[in-house]
Amino acid sequence: MARQKKQKADRAYYTFMLLMLSVVLVFAFGLMIGKQNNPQEAETVQKSVTVPKDNLTENKTITASDTETVSSTQQAQKETVPEFKQATSFWSENSHIYLRVNHEKQLELKTVANFDLSDAVYNVNDTNIASIDKSGMLTGLTKGECTITVSCNEETLHIPVTVRELTVMDGCTYVDGILIANKTYGMPETYDPGMLPETEQAFNALQADAKDLGLNIYESSGYRTYQYQISVYKSMCDAYGEDYACMYSARPGYSEHQTGYTVDCNSIDNTFAETAEGQWLADNCHNYGFIIRYPEGKEDITGYAYESWHIRYVGIEAATEIYEQGLTLEEYLDVESVHVHVEGDGETADSETNLSETVPTENIPEEPIINSIAPEENITPVESFADAPLDAPI
Ligand SMILES: [Zn+2]
Repeated sequence: MARQKKQKADRAYYTFMLLMLSVVLVFAFGLMIGKQNNPQEAETVQKSVTVPKDNLTENKTITASDTETVSSTQQAQKETVPEFKQATSFWSENSHIYLRVNHEKQLELKTVANFDLSDAVYNVNDTNIASIDKSGMLTGLTKGECTITVSCNEETLHIPVTVRELTVMDGCTYVDGILIANKTYGMPETYDPGMLPETEQAFNALQADAKDLGLNIYESSGYRTYQYQISVYKSMCDAYGEDYACMYSARPGYSEHQTGYTVDCNSIDNTFAETAEGQWLADNCHNYGFIIRYPEGKEDITGYAYESWHIRYVGIEAATEIYEQGLTLEEYLDVESVHVHVEGDGETADSETNLSETVPTENIPEEPIINSIAPEENITPVESFADAPLDAPI
């Protein structure tokens, strides 16, 4: 009897507890449903999301209209994005933008057909380093790194940007510490470092590793002085006139061989590109800090014809970036390479004259293409290059 009474009491207790639990659950469920159905409350939740400074502009709080392009879900994605991220409907052909202080660059976006980019929102995560306007025009402000974000139709694209600084020291021009010598930027006569030890060491390592693979890579031309360039250019001027020499030549002080960072390898003509040595050099020289300085197809940027044999030391990090992105040194440093010859500007064959390293391929019809100044012994018989076949080394 007592046992039956206890069982009854237990049943009543459990029934009561079950009832209470149900009430709590129903109440909680009701609250959730209520929140989802209340747009006012949902907007408040989104408004409280603050985008971190390194993703968008400084501490911008998302408004209801912003949620169309930047949702909290996208924010979560941004926090874990890799350095460079393509969107699927639109993209950039530049995986990295290099830009100098006070220089502008229009961000060029590609898009699939029918995708309208006119609503794209451009942001830069550090407005001290660079600014970007509504049309995607980027301006370098101070030396440093930042990231551009382009948002459109719930997709985002991120592009890292490096803003560089050009400095001139003792008549030499450096961009972020890299000495630049091309048709625009030269070196004074007093810059006479000889072949620099870092170049020598890197080349020795490259040569030794190539040798282990049965490849014979040797230095056919290395450091050249300003004076040497003058004598070579003068002989060209004597033979063909200054205009011709200027057209085909770099002026003295503008040859990369004067930097102390440059080596010409092997045969100094583009048959080298077809050899096992030439192919290995193109694929591997960046691992030693060298770049193929005048790549094929970039003649209008470097100002010089393709030279498969001419390598320039810039350090492993820069060389690897340049190689992987298929750039020239001009693009990497955001500098131009143009020589505009002005009549009567003081340039003469005797004073400010040149060594021809290579020649531009543009606008020079019906003339022999002088591809390179080869080692000294090949330069003297100037008469011979009038009859030289196309691309013959001089
Ligand atoms: Zn060279």
